[in-house]
Amino acid sequence: MSSFDYDLFVIGGGSGGVRSARLAASMGKRVAIAEEYRFGGTCVIRGCVPKKLFVYASQFHEHFEDAAGFGWTVGESRFDWKKLIAAKDQEIARLEGLYRKGLNNAGAELIESRAELTGPNSVRLLATGREVTAERIVIAVGGSANGHQSLPGHEFCITSNEAFHLDELPRSIVIAGGGYIAVEFANIFHGLGVDTTLIYRGKEILSRFDQDVRRGLHQAMEAKGIRILCTDVIEEVTKTAAGGLSLRTLQNGMLSADTVMLALGRDPYTKGLGLETAGVAVNDRGAIIVDAYSRTNVPSIFALGDVTDRVQLTPVAIHEAMCFIETEYKNNPTSPDHDLIATAVFSQPEIGTVGLTEEEAARRFAEIEVYKAEFRPMKATLSGRAEKTIMKLIVNSGDRKVIGVHILGHEAGEMAQLLGITLKAGCTKDDFDRTMAVHPTASEELVTMYSPSYRIRNGERI
Ligand code: NDP
Repeated sequence: MSSFDYDLFVIGGGSGGVRSARLAASMGKRVAIAEEYRFGGTCVIRGCVPKKLFVYASQFHEHFEDAAGFGWTVGESRFDWKKLIAAKDQEIARLEGLYRKGLNNAGAELIESRAELTGPNSVRLLATGREVTAERIVIAVGGSANGHQSLPGHEFCITSNEAFHLDELPRSIVIAGGGYIAVEFANIFHGLGVDTTLIYRGKEILSRFDQDVRRGLHQAMEAKGIRILCTDVIEEVTKTAAGGLSLRTLQNGMLSADTVMLALGRDPYTKGLGLETAGVAVNDRGAIIVDAYSRTNVPSIFALGDVTDRVQLTPVAIHEAMCFIETEYKNNPTSPDHDLIATAVFSQPEIGTVGLTEEEAARRFAEIEVYKAEFRPMKATLSGRAEKTIMKLIVNSGDRKVIGVHILGHEAGEMAQLLGITLKAGCTKDDFDRTMAVHPTASEELVTMYSPSYRIRNGERI
């Protein structure tokens, strides 16, 4: 028995923290996990899960409209924001309960307190002032929304945190940013009937995605009635006498809205954590620097998930936690694999993607083949909705491997998950070609694009 109070102390009860605490405790380790807010972390409490519930809620008005083309007459429909919030809160409370139960059943000690490092093996619990020691410490405190402190009037703006708890649904909203959260929430608010404007500093939304799906989504959002202002930023936000907000922008003059939401990225939540006291090194963004096994420069302290700013995604944090357990408690050194991570943007239509964009692939390989299909989804034929699905395969001509797939359309996220397996397995275009189609589906297009739409050789389209 070691002289420490615990074998493992985890700071942060989110995806990465809970997984590492639960697995270690189930192996018989003496584990405590401290959480200052609610168990479940960003993903469950104010991220992926409530967001997806909001996405579902926001899709119904299009479903009601589409129903007519299939013979349905739908009566008058009304949306009640407070009902949605209450139902969402109930579901989140249920999930939080499951997280707690999982930890309890595994034998971990749950501590409802902020915890701060006081040394390489010690932590202070702020709720009681008690100091505890542990052989190993995992920091999994996640990130926090960038509140853009340098923006005059930032205090009048909300972030995604507040978007989940607004008392009233605003009549109008301006959302700043062009990443996952901005795009997803622009579609959510628009779908719920809010007059929505998105303002983004770059030339095209979703800067890290493939050009065709970026452009395709931009057009689809505008066609729905979402205003998108690119190459522009908010310079100042002020409150009006009527209680609304007035925005001064660089390019588009003055705008007004009930609510302004900032979706400008998330920063590692390391401030005040005692990292300096314990001697843990951070980078210039405040992210904890770790090695290939999630170990910090202090050998007894590890860090997982968003706080390390590697890839800010829930499954990545969970994967990093499992690798930590393999390495530290199962004598099986395992380094997290961050290559070929499939991801989805729950915009409307959705984006699903894995691997290299056309632009990245063209830079990396001497010659690539691009297979591209654009078509009207079958449902739209009767619904009459003007929408299109885009599918793109990027193939390295050298070894025929499929190195990128990009989809804009219904269920693109579901497709991305399965395509992730094929790319991870190193499937070639020939493997795709000899795969029988599932008919009638949209995804059959992925295995029936026989000739390349074009090639890019040494950067030149041919
Ligand atoms: P993103 O990094 O996706 O997007 C941030 C956006 O803000 C970018 O468009 C960026 O522009 C812009 N931006 C940053 N700083 C400024 C500034 N000072 N002024 C103007 N614009 C600025 O972050 P999000 O906040 O959308 O999401 C945080 C993370 O959460 C994501 O990275 C993602 O990993 C995760 N997430 C995942 C989801 C999913 O899997 N579906 C859903 C939601 C979040 P530019 O592109 O030019 O840098």
